[in-house]
Amino acid sequence: MTSKPAPYVGRFAPSPSGPLHFGSLLAAVVSYARARAGNGQWLVRIEDIDPPREQPGADKVILNALEAYGFEWDGPVSYQSQFAERHAALVQSLLESGAAYPCSCSRRDLADARRGPLGAIYPGTCREGCRSDEVAIRLRTDDEPIEFMDQLQGPQSQRLESETGDFIIKRRDGLIAYHLAVVADDFDQGITEVVRGIDLLDSTPRHIHLQRVLGFTTPDYLHIPVVENAEGQKLSKLTGARGIPGDETSATLVSALDALKQHPPADLARASIDEIWAWALANWRTDVLRDVKSIPADQYPMAEHENGLS
Ligand code: GLU
Repeated sequence: MTSKPAPYVGRFAPSPSGPLHFGSLLAAVVSYARARAGNGQWLVRIEDIDPPREQPGADKVILNALEAYGFEWDGPVSYQSQFAERHAALVQSLLESGAAYPCSCSRRDLADARRGPLGAIYPGTCREGCRSDEVAIRLRTDDEPIEFMDQLQGPQSQRLESETGDFIIKRRDGLIAYHLAVVADDFDQGITEVVRGIDLLDSTPRHIHLQRVLGFTTPDYLHIPVVENAEGQKLSKLTGARGIPGDETSATLVSALDALKQHPPADLARASIDEIWAWALANWRTDVLRDVKSIPADQYPMAEHENGLS
């Protein structure tokens, strides 16, 4: 007897650090289309665990935009801050098993650390013990290559110890690091496929390492191209990307389908949001994105920064 494949559970996990911009809309469209085309579920999780980077009310702005663009999520919206106790318990268990350790290195202590394409590589200074109580918590890594097959970007491999070094799972300021929270919540929510921007492709081996250490299953990963201006700057909330318009939703959704190489017919921009989704789901193809490295912001007027970066 062959076992049935697990039902698809996808998610969209925006941080409330600004409005929903064109780049995030693309990630939402791809994950939604894959969930609906696969008769699966689609969850929305607001990743609100980094208050210094958040904008008050951005969660509501994002949810209103998703609604205006016709997204229908399954179940209530979750907030990552709801899972703080679970995150803290996981950090504690990693400390107790010796998989993680306290680290008192300051930014200045690490100023001379070797740098690689992924940034400073932690040299392991506190592996055998640290000097003060003001600490971050780091997860031990080794140099066995972590390999995975991205559903769009193909085979990937990273050696964590030499490419990133032991990495932070709880920050010195007491906040839980994104890497730990995302791994915990994706597992606890039964996510089977993570769709997100290619800017997070380099973080995925750290997530897989955490999953292995915690005994969690690894979901499929699909990293989509990001929207970039001519200088190669990514459209991002942190650099002031403009929110997608609240009017002209049909034209914007069709532009998103165009950016995602779905080749929507020209007159679809005049259809209703429901009609556009019906067309998009009936015609959805992910493989057309395989050779797309980035999406040029200057072709999409809604893909702009407030400061006119693109
Ligand atoms: N919260 C992240 C963001 O808004 C996305 C994280 C993820 O999809 O894993 O950029």
